[in-house]
Amino acid sequence: MKLVSRYTHIAEDFAVPDLPSPVVAPTLLLWNEAVAKQLDIQVSPSERASIFSGNTSNSTVAAVALGYSGHQFGHFSPRLGDGRAHLLGAVSDQHQQLWDIQLKGSGATPFSRGGDGRCAIGPAIREYIMSEAMHGLSVPTTRCLAVVASGETVYRQPPQQGAIVTRVASSHIRVGSFQYLATQGDVSALQALADSAIARHYPEIQSTGSDRYLAFLKAVIEKQITLVVSWMRVGFIHGVMNTDNTLISGETIDYGPCAMMNQFDFDTVFSSIDRQARYAFGSQPNIANWNCARLAESLLPLIHEDDEQAVELLSPLINGFAEQFNQAFTQMWAQKLGFAGHHTDDAQLVAELLAILKDHKLDYTNTFDELTKSLQGEQVISQPLKAWSLKWLKRTDQHSFAIMRAANPMMIPRNHIVEAIIEEFENKGSSEVLAAYLVALQNPYKLMIESAQWLQPPADGGAQYKTFCGT
Ligand code: AMP
Ligand code: MG
Ligand code: MG
Repeated sequence: MKLVSRYTHIAEDFAVPDLPSPVVAPTLLLWNEAVAKQLDIQVSPSERASIFSGNTSNSTVAAVALGYSGHQFGHFSPRLGDGRAHLLGAVSDQHQQLWDIQLKGSGATPFSRGGDGRCAIGPAIREYIMSEAMHGLSVPTTRCLAVVASGETVYRQPPQQGAIVTRVASSHIRVGSFQYLATQGDVSALQALADSAIARHYPEIQSTGSDRYLAFLKAVIEKQITLVVSWMRVGFIHGVMNTDNTLISGETIDYGPCAMMNQFDFDTVFSSIDRQARYAFGSQPNIANWNCARLAESLLPLIHEDDEQAVELLSPLINGFAEQFNQAFTQMWAQKLGFAGHHTDDAQLVAELLAILKDHKLDYTNTFDELTKSLQGEQVISQPLKAWSLKWLKRTDQHSFAIMRAANPMMIPRNHIVEAIIEEFENKGSSEVLAAYLVALQNPYKLMIESAQWLQPPADGGAQYKTFCGT
């Protein structure tokens, strides 16, 4: 594995050299061959556990922990950073694109703030399953290359087995990374970070001076809109959209308390720590907007030396978020309902449908799947939707089925199923069904015989399900 370092030039305390802490008995639990292939990572099976636990290194590049700030549930922490993660470096794929290879759960770092730097096996496997599911659903996401058991106990309530998960991301530049440098008043580091982010994620931006960073913010806003629209298309609730969990690349990161919505309701919240419902399913667009505003604030010194003038230049972009989001959101519902163009009555049709879904506690995924299948003559439309569907049918045409099939998954990683598989894994040290489950999750828009057992919501609708911040 040939690694390069990509953040050390930015600032001394931005990428802090730090070594993973060895673990007693590393055992490889999961290996993602597709990701290894894509990134041309050639590490022999016998070396994987030791390299991807951080016990040994086959690289000349020094591992680092990255510094970042973050608004957590709206409250600003100037110094968060990788408290339990080590960035080994970046690998180059066949298109000469760099991908960060990061160990999570690899021991304490200068950013640990008293935490143990470790990760339990359950959340590690959950991150692997959920990120693979998102990839299969065509939602931009970080992915996992490996999960290695540490052979150690992590002291949680109750104590659990430890694990190290290897995460792959197109970069780990977060909104919180910009906040970190802006808070320190380090303008040249801020500029270096923005230029790195542009080079990696937005190479189409050619402009110079302040225009360059305005174009950057505009591009990040577009990516965040695309991301949140894809989440909502598949019923994903991130659960902890803090600015430190928002990547500039527009990939999903941090699978701690995330969950999938079963019964449709914009107010759905599963995270036990989200008591104010800040990150509810339907609040995600506003929060993405809010997070982009925090990025804009961090960019002020790159836009103009006078803050007021900088605000004047940045504000139109932030103020345009809602309108831009709504356009993308309208487009998403049109696809979920199989509409090619746009009719003035479409919004009404969507609103009526969502009201029926909510009132009758209908399953989000399965309802849209049933509507899709009904276009091929299957008699699957449930009673509460019958009258509405007559109006909808008039609006469909011969292209609708294909449009809907591409937008409406048959399979999502249902919370209760993911939990059952993780539990089996924790108890037995392996899972017989996991491999088959992961294959099915890569084909969520296709009818697969194996998938049939994983398509139904839990008998109680699953509204009482709770997630806990991944520890
Ligand atoms: P998260 O909730 O995963 O976004 O993490 C928020 C912050 O807490 C990040 O700075 C993490 O590095 C840090 N953190 C979470 N768990 C631990 C841990 N077990 N040890 C040290 N730092 C941690
Ligand atoms: Mg250390
Ligand atoms: Mg995080």
